[in-house]
Amino acid sequence: MGQSTSTTSDTDGGRLALSFDKFLKNFKLESTIVSQDTVRKIQSHLEEGDLQSTVSTINKVLRDIDSAPLNIAVTGESGTGKSSFINALRGVGQEEEGAAETGPVETTVVRTPYKHKKFPNVTLWDLPGMGTTKFQAHRYLQEMKFGDYDFFIIVSATRFKDTEVHLATAIRKMKKNFYFVRTKVDSDVYNQRVSKPSIFNKDELLQKLRDDCVTHLKNANMRNIPIFLVSSFELASYDFQRLETTLLKELPAHKRHIFMQYLPNVTEAAIDRKRDSLKQKVWLEALKAGASATIPLVGYLSENDVETLKETLTLYRSYFGLDDASLETVAKDLHVSVEKLKANLMSPHLLSVEKDDESLGDKLLRCLEKICSISGGLIATGLYFRKIFYLQNYFLDTVVRDAKLLLKKEEIFKDSEGSEQTYMHQEVRDENGKSEASSS
Ligand code: GDP
Repeated sequence: MGQSTSTTSDTDGGRLALSFDKFLKNFKLESTIVSQDTVRKIQSHLEEGDLQSTVSTINKVLRDIDSAPLNIAVTGESGTGKSSFINALRGVGQEEEGAAETGPVETTVVRTPYKHKKFPNVTLWDLPGMGTTKFQAHRYLQEMKFGDYDFFIIVSATRFKDTEVHLATAIRKMKKNFYFVRTKVDSDVYNQRVSKPSIFNKDELLQKLRDDCVTHLKNANMRNIPIFLVSSFELASYDFQRLETTLLKELPAHKRHIFMQYLPNVTEAAIDRKRDSLKQKVWLEALKAGASATIPLVGYLSENDVETLKETLTLYRSYFGLDDASLETVAKDLHVSVEKLKANLMSPHLLSVEKDDESLGDKLLRCLEKICSISGGLIATGLYFRKIFYLQNYFLDTVVRDAKLLLKKEEIFKDSEGSEQTYMHQEVRDENGKSEASSS
């Protein structure tokens, strides 16, 4: 990490174009946040050496990604589990303030918007079941302002009825996407396990539930329509993950980022997707900086850099449910103190300075030197020449590891009950699993 300055060769267009292409190939379609058209545009600007157009295209991409509104309509008859599904998608407990009201009685007669305080651009719309309104499908969609939504989710706790099939046909005519979600699957599994233990076979039961829905849709001339079996109480099970992947794939690329961050951290796959999306954003920022100007590679972090890093970490912790408010809720649920919970995590300590004679900037530099010594070749890509991007990636990886650890929180706190054992606080591991003592 010596003192040097990037030269024009550092920002060589052809090489950047090549590394951009290579970098984006690391991601699956559903987690790609830049459209193919935009990628081609950026590449051709780079190849032509038109750095100004490169920067303005990237700026536009970043603006679109950050400001894209997302409106999701969820429709279904009362009692089907629609409110519970909406709450589960928003990561809101059924009894929390602001939760969609759940219960056995009819609670929704007009469309109701639900927002998330972390994601003001995303709105989940609770639509009354079409049967409740007595409208024909076309009229129903007009009344519900169908043009406002990116896609529709049609929920049912049994096979889909004719009204829902008519609705889906009308949605399709209006050139919008729809998805059938069959809720309360855990209940079917439980009932069958208890009532017919001798013939109980979970996979067969799930297949039967799916076939049952598909046959009914086929009879109504709807073919090749995927059905997603979901339990709002066990989101990590059944088809929820497949539903997420399908929704993401079918959204325009620039809307995927916000939806990935919005989706709850219930599986490793969801956490990895969030990480991939954020890595692309860090990369776009790095590419922009690379194309913008000659960037001095000085041996310190400016106050601005430290501020940006603080903001980045706060954002990452919030996206992955590791902000202070979320950790307090987790600690409460686990009946452990927040201090004990934090002692098992690394991300809350990333910005704390332990030594009296060390500034935060110094500590981050020390951290950076360690990462570079572990991951060695990264700097050779020519893009991560700014320390800030290295550190943003490091923060992201740290937060991701904490988020994955929290997936196993019950296990961890059961094992460590009464002991002061900490799991992650002590080491930094490189991609090959080699570990280094950490002072953070
Ligand atoms: P809504 O009227 O369609 O909004 O349905 P609610 O979300 O209020 O759910 C109706 C009832 O079904 C409530 O008692 C919920 O607790 C229950 N419920 C909802 N979703 C599920 C689920 O995925 N599994 C199980 N077992 N029960 C559910």
